[in-house]
Amino acid sequence: MEDCVFCKIIKGEIPSEKVYEDEDILAFNDINPAAPIHVLIIPKKHIKNLMEFKPEDYKLMEKILATVQKVAQKVGVDEKGFRLISNCGPDSGQEVMHVHFHLLAGRKMGPKIVH
Ligand code: 5GP
Ligand code: ZN
Repeated sequence: MEDCVFCKIIKGEIPSEKVYEDEDILAFNDINPAAPIHVLIIPKKHIKNLMEFKPEDYKLMEKILATVQKVAQKVGVDEKGFRLISNCGPDSGQEVMHVHFHLLAGRKMGPKIVH
């Protein structure tokens, strides 16, 4: 996807602060953090959002879940906790049309699910 900002980050055309990377997944710090720790976890495959996951992508979803756990351990919040958000579609306010999971941590989260 040529005009996708996250595909550009994956290709290294836009710099990012990487937290974790393997052949299928990248995790990097959000440029505009909403919490002391704000990591974005994305598949390298361009998938628009959660509704666009096909059955052949479900294995990737398993890897994403494993990566969430790895990243939480790596940034030291596996015990203290974190919030995981994936905006999907217009009402959610999704801005980047490459599926991503916000891992928010490092402060007490309010009762409202916002980021
Ligand atoms: P959304 O609103 O689509 O769920 O979240 C998109 C997120 O991507 C936002 O939190 C925004 O700060 C982040 N973001 C947008 N462009 C860039 C970028 O070029 N680099 C990084 N690291 N984060 C970005
Ligand atoms: Zn993309």
